[in-house]
Amino acid sequence: MPASTPKDPQDVAPGLKSRIAADSTEATLHDVAPGSGSGSSPVSARADMDVVASSGSSPADARTEADAAAQNEAQPPALSRRHFVWGAAGAAVMLGLGAAARYAFADEPLLRPPGGQDEAHLLSACIKCNRCISVCPTSAIAVAGLESGLANARTPRMDYRPAERSRFSSSALREGTASQHSHDEGIAILTQAKGSNYCNFCGLCIANCPTGALQPFDAAAQWIGLAVVFPDNCLAFEREGGCRKCVDYCPFSAITLDEHSRPVVDATLCNGCGVCENICPTYSYRTKSGIDSRRGINVEIQAKGRPQ
Ligand code: SF4
Ligand code: SF4
Ligand code: SF4
Repeated sequence: MPASTPKDPQDVAPGLKSRIAADSTEATLHDVAPGSGSGSSPVSARADMDVVASSGSSPADARTEADAAAQNEAQPPALSRRHFVWGAAGAAVMLGLGAAARYAFADEPLLRPPGGQDEAHLLSACIKCNRCISVCPTSAIAVAGLESGLANARTPRMDYRPAERSRFSSSALREGTASQHSHDEGIAILTQAKGSNYCNFCGLCIANCPTGALQPFDAAAQWIGLAVVFPDNCLAFEREGGCRKCVDYCPFSAITLDEHSRPVVDATLCNGCGVCENICPTYSYRTKSGIDSRRGINVEIQAKGRPQ
């Protein structure tokens, strides 16, 4: 009986043909003939061989690999190192721009030395030479930092917060006894006082300003700012009679106690010398967050002129 060949020899891959030829001694006609022991048709047998010839794996292995490939396609691509580096660089640039914008546009109004209350004039005339800062005998002028905005950076601002040992003190004023003083008496008290970080209206900063950014100033009629009581921070609002320091130490008698023994500021008498903020004890008694570092009383910028 002649040996039979598959139904269509052209269907068999060349590699498979040679393999069939090589295996001819083992792969007999019965292996592929209908009704053989395997029960496979020649076509299905050829298909099985195709799989074996192409992958070298079993059909079950091939299915597993196909499933894994499909699963990989469904997953999002992993973040490459290059993408990660560029992403991190972009985030850093955005953060830098955000910080720069914060500084550039944070030009908050600042409490200026006497004669510097016209903010537009001060900003246009000040050359940031810091002479006013160096000549101030009470170290009441500080240099504004970049956190106050680009335009404000290195311009002069008032600083009424001394170190504890440098607080204002005066032999003419006694705690617990508020005495009345005229404006001239108030100036005399300030001139003879000790400590740092209050304004005695000596006028040295104005006289030494080379550009006129600080203009002539009348402490009897103008103000650096107005002292404002902050009830949330004031000890007298916490407990009646809890404190009266600012009342007793104001050289210009601008603070009195109300019926609940709480401080009240007379805007017609206050010129913003800063003594009350200087001696207010709340900053040392309480821990304040960076956002609310105000004391019980603080000299605040005032857009309007001082009432007479
Ligand atoms: S007037 Fe005198 S004490 Fe007041 S800020 Fe100027 S230099 Fe300082
Ligand atoms: S700033 Fe304070 S201490 Fe100075 S005049 Fe005004 S209330 Fe008095
Ligand atoms: S010194 Fe400060 S805590 Fe004391 S009464 Fe004046 S604002 Fe209040």
